[in-house]
This record gives sequence, C-alpha cells and structure tokens, in this order.
Amino acid sequence: MRAKNKVLVLCTGGTIGMSHKIKGEPSSPLVPVSWGDVGLSAFKSFVDTKEILSIDSSDMNPAYWGLLAEKIGENYDKYDGFVILHGTDTMAYTACALSFMLENLKKPVVITGAQLPIAKQGSDAPQNLAAALAVAAAENIPVIPEVSILFGNLLLRGNRARKMNTSGFSVFDSPNYEPLARIVGEPPGFVLSQITPQRKPTHEPLQITDFRSFETNVLSLDIFPGMSNVMLKNILALEGLKGVVIKTYGAGNAPTVPNFLNEIENAVNKGIVIVNVTQCPYGAVDMGLYGASVGLLQRGVISGLDMSPEAALVKLMFLLGQGYAPESVKEKMQLDLRGEVTNN
Ligand code: ASP
Repeated sequence: MRAKNKVLVLCTGGTIGMSHKIKGEPSSPLVPVSWGDVGLSAFKSFVDTKEILSIDSSDMNPAYWGLLAEKIGENYDKYDGFVILHGTDTMAYTACALSFMLENLKKPVVITGAQLPIAKQGSDAPQNLAAALAVAAAENIPVIPEVSILFGNLLLRGNRARKMNTSGFSVFDSPNYEPLARIVGEPPGFVLSQITPQRKPTHEPLQITDFRSFETNVLSLDIFPGMSNVMLKNILALEGLKGVVIKTYGAGNAPTVPNFLNEIENAVNKGIVIVNVTQCPYGAVDMGLYGASVGLLQRGVISGLDMSPEAALVKLMFLLGQGYAPESVKEKMQLDLRGEVTNN
C-alpha cells in the first residue's frame, strides 16, 4: 500500500496558538505562547511540525516571509504539501508574499489559523486545521498547487483573499475571485464541493526569491474628501519613497483639481511608481471610465485593475525589490504573475 502523503506544518503564531496573558483571566489580552502540539498529535501519522515563530501576526515582516519560504524550499522534496499556521490579521499579506516568492510552485501551501485559540471550547481551529491538512495532503482530492488560504468553509487563492471580519468564523473572502473550493461537512468526511480551474501547471523547478528583495520604502494611501494638499505633498516628498498604492474612490476616481494632480505628477516624474486600487471591496479600477480618473491616467498612475490592496502593495514591494526600473515595474504590475489580477 502506498504511504500516506506527508505534510509539513509550519507554526508562526496567531490566535490559534494564543492564550490569555493572565492565566484564567479571560479579560486579559491574548498573547502568543509556545505551540506545544497545537492539536496535531491526532495527525502525526502523516504530519511533521516545526515551530518557526510565535508571534501575533501584527509583527509579520518580509524577513519572516523569507524564513517561511526558506523552510518550504528546504523541505520541498520531503513533503507533498505544506500548512502554515498564522494569525488572521496579516494572513492575506503573507499569502501574497509567498505566492510571489515561490515561483513554479507545484505543491499545495495552505495557510490557516483560527478566531479562537485551539484550547478554547468551540474553537474553529480543529476544523480549519483538519481541512487545511486534507488540502495539503491531497490524498483524495486534486492537488491545488498554489498558495491558498483556508478558513471556515472556503479555500481561497491566497493573493486574492482579504480579511473581511474581525469576529465570527467566516473571516476571509476573495471578493474578485471565485473560491478555489468550498468545504462541506465536518471532518473527516468533508469534501471539496467545487474546485475552480487551476493555474497552468509548470514544469520548471521551484524558484525562491530572497526576502531581502522586498522594497519596504512604499506606502499605502487612502484618499478622502478634504485631504490636505500640504500633507500629500510632504508624504510624496519623503526621502527614499519608491512606490505608493493609492486607494481611490469607485472605479479609480480621485480629485480633479490641479493642486492634487500636480503633486501626483511630480511624484511620478521623480520615478515613484503609483498604483491605483479601489477603496471598494468588490470590482476593479477602470481609469478613463470617468473624467475623474483621466487626470491620474495622464500623469502616469497605473491601474491596479481588480487586485486587492494587499496584493497590489506586496506585488509593488516585490517588483521594486527585484531592481526593475520604474517603467518595467509599472508594466509588470498590470500583468498576471500568480493569478493575483484579472488581466485585461
Ligand atoms: N491578532 C491575531 C493575529 O493576527 C489575530 C488572529 O490570529 O486571528 O495574530
């Protein structure tokens, strides 16, 4: 009989492994604790576990993304799939980063966590964990060879996912992309009820981009009625600034007044890459649809199309970090690299 597929679980922290700072005092803050077996002993026949971090995911950073990618690279040939236990707050960013770093991925990398610590009664952790392990092991279900987020009853493309809810068990969604699968029923009898077409398989070997190549001199900027021009000018004049994700109204609209557009133009002329994403949770930027986006288009702001703000920011960090010239970054930002954007 064929041996069961092997899965490596990388623990990073998050609520799933937290407990209250003051033992037995539920009003004290939740803090990361060392993992112990996080409920994985039931799966030990096919699961190995490595605790690589014990953080609230608010402390996630590119160096840690690199550590995760490195661990996957080191163990790539030994396992059939990977599960990453991670806090929900920055899970979408990590999913984006890994999707860009892990080029030619052919095995499942499933990121999951929980809204309640695994030790708490009624926690969503056991169900999320069992489902994530099943997807990563890919025993009786198709291999999903990409970085995904599994939460509640949804398996989502990681670089399309967004945290939508601070409480409740349905936390993530991918507003501009169908779920990769819906999970129905309780483990161990659950099935994937729907699997969207997968990205084209690659025959190239896995290639991992070094974490040092994320450019961190970038900003995410929400526009709002009454935004001060002086503030905008000062922000865009920040020394070393390389890229900005500007979050605009609706289909990519922004003020049309010269004061605002001149600051944007100056920044673009200095080589700062400005990417336009919408503040709306659903839909895409369509620059030129309204007169109120033409000014941005004419000044060299590029469209983030239907990318999530997380994907746009991490992709910008990734591409700038590769050392491409601004024009090349602008071009690549609009291309589908890992399924993060619907090309038009
Ligand atoms: N603050 C926690 C974290 O992101 C929240 C969670 O895990 O759900 O680490």
